[in-house]
Amino acid sequence: MGLCEPHRNWSIEYTKDTLSQRQTSGKLCICPQLGKAMPRQDPLKVIFIAGYGRSGTTLLDIALGQQSGVFAAGEITALPRHVWREREFCACRNQVDACDFWRPVIDAWHHHQSPDTLDAHGRRAARLEWLFDPRRLFASIVAGKETRAYREGTSVLLHEIAAASGASVIVDSSKLPGRASSLMSIKGIEVFVVHMVRDGRGVAWSMMKPYRRSVEAGIQKELKPKPLWYTAARWFAVNLGTELVRARLPRKRSMRVRYEDFVADPEGTVRSILALVGQEYVSPDHGPEVMRPQHQIAGSRHRMQDEITINKDIGWTSQMPRWMQNVFTVLTAPLLVRYGYLASVPKKQKPERESDPRIPREVA
Ligand SMILES: [Zn+2]
Repeated sequence: MGLCEPHRNWSIEYTKDTLSQRQTSGKLCICPQLGKAMPRQDPLKVIFIAGYGRSGTTLLDIALGQQSGVFAAGEITALPRHVWREREFCACRNQVDACDFWRPVIDAWHHHQSPDTLDAHGRRAARLEWLFDPRRLFASIVAGKETRAYREGTSVLLHEIAAASGASVIVDSSKLPGRASSLMSIKGIEVFVVHMVRDGRGVAWSMMKPYRRSVEAGIQKELKPKPLWYTAARWFAVNLGTELVRARLPRKRSMRVRYEDFVADPEGTVRSILALVGQEYVSPDHGPEVMRPQHQIAGSRHRMQDEITINKDIGWTSQMPRWMQNVFTVLTAPLLVRYGYLASVPKKQKPERESDPRIPREVA
């Protein structure tokens, strides 16, 4: 009997408390050679939601999190980068260091990774999760010290999240295709990439609206309006980058989801994604129409609501000036065609009710 393959490089001794927690959640196996308790041998399944901002990635994350056995964590890459340091708010409305889910996860991470710090890991992640990072090409041949430390720190964090939640599938809606690519290189992690796209004209229109900083409302910093050309360039690059990442995966390990299809049929979308990871759909106790956020970190402010009812946001079709739509179309036409957005123009809809707080008017 060999070592637990995913943890060949780990040097971990679990405390009794951690051990009993793992036994409770039934996620323990013993490595006889090391004589230590190790998480079981199965690769940990991670659904990675990739794509550009304001495309519904947080809503999809929350929708998947309604399923038992699935823990939807939000944008995990943000945790070591700034969420923990800045004491940002979890969807449970506690600051992350006071959240009864994330506090023990990070304590366990520091215990296992000492003397490394979460801050150092976050800086490493920021360097290695770039969209087009040539170091990943070389790292696939020879992983340097920094790459090895990144992989180990990320693997420990994901396994701690799985152990604390008792889930067999983790959802990471970090969006960055560079992170998806990096996760795919980590042993013991089985990545399923869900590429979420939204009509870029709607994204650009949404990006033109400013938001004031409101930490408790889930807006961690002031969001300044983004110029049309800026969103067009980045929307194109991020979606193209995600296409390239998906091309490296077998077909059964990735899929594309259009925001417009998701909001039209959330249950159908969730069923399709669960089928990727081999899990059955179970209708939530509170019904399929309503979603309740749990412990999502970072991502859109909608995660701070008690309940969310999904509504389609295509207000841009009536509000965005035609010339802006045309400029965006010219700049990004190949991908708009690829995603079916130039085949038919969405019908204009009446402005949504301003008074209903359950209805997300902006997507992220
Ligand atoms: Zn929480």
